[in-house]
Amino acid sequence: MKGILITGALGQLGSEIATELRRLHGPDRVVLTDVRDTINRDLVEEGPFYRSDVRDGAELSRIVKKHRIGTIYHLAALLSATAEDRPQEAWDLNLNGLLTVLEVAREQGAAVFTPSSIGAFGPTTPRDWTPQDTLQRPTSMYGVTKVAGELLCDYYHFKYGVDTRGLRYPGLISSKTPPGGGTTDYAVDIYYQALRTGRYRCFLKGDTYLDMMYMPDAVRAAISLMEADPSRLRHRNAFNVTAMSFCPEEQAAYIRACLPRFEIDYEVDPVRQAIANSWPNAMEDYAARVEWGWEPQYDLEATTRDMLRVLSQRLE
Ligand code: NAD
Repeated sequence: MKGILITGALGQLGSEIATELRRLHGPDRVVLTDVRDTINRDLVEEGPFYRSDVRDGAELSRIVKKHRIGTIYHLAALLSATAEDRPQEAWDLNLNGLLTVLEVAREQGAAVFTPSSIGAFGPTTPRDWTPQDTLQRPTSMYGVTKVAGELLCDYYHFKYGVDTRGLRYPGLISSKTPPGGGTTDYAVDIYYQALRTGRYRCFLKGDTYLDMMYMPDAVRAAISLMEADPSRLRHRNAFNVTAMSFCPEEQAAYIRACLPRFEIDYEVDPVRQAIANSWPNAMEDYAARVEWGWEPQYDLEATTRDMLRVLSQRLE
């Protein structure tokens, strides 16, 4: 079997995909790269790891050749809130990083998984039950890079036959690695603060609905898509996938069911609120269900119970 490479492997999504792929295939088969090596040291020490900038094509090419890589999970990117702060850097990393990966994949015959996002939609996209194929005119730099990335991946598939596949992830909720500067970070922080202080000050309005997914579902979605029979894939870049849609008020109510004294108040950050307002309230993910059997396992209640259980053990 060929090897697997993950870029941005120490981040929120990468650290969990890395853990699962190493469990399935063994640590030596799953090569990790990231620009930093100071977090998730267990992953750095457990198997092959390179501290490397994904835009360095020569280095990436050497790593892919040396480890006979067959699939690249390309996760290095700047997330929505950070991208709005540093738009030129976001363009450079999110698109030149992706182009570097696609070129190496084309030369060496590797498949590529690239996450897109609900950020690839914009204010003119239908907000409710957002379809798979619809208007995509995002107004954030993050969204601009995600739409361009979806098109670039499709281009490499149609033009060069590279096996590119992608998901439009909603906000990801994880108990392991803290979030990396996204608009949906509140939905993770709220659990930490609920346990630490019993209260949370939210940077989005209480009635802001967004799609979300618990990390075990996000990991399963990526791996299932890359294992799917290519003849069934009518879409490639990128599939809508969601597990739940909720607003901060609702999430607080579910937390209160476990921690009755929990309180939430609001101090709205206009930048992140504007980004959230331009994203769907709730997507439909019918194409993913039909073309490769996507089915989420965690709703808001199951996510809340599991996050509070795992974090309360860790924070003890
Ligand atoms: P993250 O910020 O937690 O991780 C990104 C990783 O990339 C970090 O470990 C960082 O050190 C690394 N990185 C940054 N610049 C790099 C460079 N030049 N070269 C190599 N590595 C570099 O982000 P994440 O949440 O794990 O997101 C991974 C992917 O999933 C991104 O494409 C993101 O847009 C997408 N996504 C995430 C979410 C979410 O809620 N977290 C939602 C939708 C889509």
